[in-house]
Amino acid sequence: IIAAGLFAGIVVIGLAGYYLARLALVPIQTAWERQQQFVADASHELRTPLAVVKTNAELMLRHPENTVEQESARVTNILREAIRMNKLVSTLLTLARADANQLELQLKPVVINEVIETVVEQFRPLVELKGLELSVSVEPQLEMTADRERLHQLLVILLDNALKYTAPPGRITLTCSKLQNQIGLKVEDTGCGIVPEDLPRVFDRFFRGDKARHRETGGAGLGLSIAQWIVEKHGGKIRVESSPGVGTQFYITLPAKK
Ligand code: ADP
Repeated sequence: IIAAGLFAGIVVIGLAGYYLARLALVPIQTAWERQQQFVADASHELRTPLAVVKTNAELMLRHPENTVEQESARVTNILREAIRMNKLVSTLLTLARADANQLELQLKPVVINEVIETVVEQFRPLVELKGLELSVSVEPQLEMTADRERLHQLLVILLDNALKYTAPPGRITLTCSKLQNQIGLKVEDTGCGIVPEDLPRVFDRFFRGDKARHRETGGAGLGLSIAQWIVEKHGGKIRVESSPGVGTQFYITLPAKK
């Protein structure tokens, strides 16, 4: 009986130890793997614009007989890629600082209407230039405790996507209202939509729907992961619904006071 008891005890302790070790080790390993993946993806994203810069500079050096127009086209390519890299590097820095918990929100009372107005002013010409319609419906005098800059950034990401993924004649709708002590934000478009198998991955870092389609739009697949970070850091939630060929809706709820 004693031997059986000892044996059972050893088995129970062994199993408990095994599961505890797994609980402790698995998240560490996953975090490490995620970090490795992040570095690999980031390097990959920087490689393409760097290659364009290098090739154009080499061509300029090798062909001094080029006309001013040809040279100017090459310099334009270099500049475009440099701007893209600059944007990418600052996005990567934001994510790295967020991961290291070094990025704090500057929480202050914010009148959301003012933030929306600024973003809409910035987007309306681009939306109209593309032949789309922009409708905005915001309850008057909506206030919340938030980081104004981050709220602005969140709206820019969502409107920028709506603009990128909607062909004319389409419509982008921005709605904001208060529901008890929550602020509800909705960004809706009548664009290409997202296929159901991509929906769970759109907030993943570096995820892009269709590689070929997005090469021309130029995103690195980081916008929505930053949007999600901003919302969650404010204690809110973000979710997406979409029908391919019909359109996409992003729903956000944020606590009015944090
Ligand atoms: P990016 O736009 O730079 O590719 P995001 O992280 O902002 O990266 O978005 C990830 C992916 O989600 C996009 O590549 C696209 O496939 C999809 N997506 C995001 N917003 C929309 C939208 N409004 N309509 C259709 N697809 C979208």
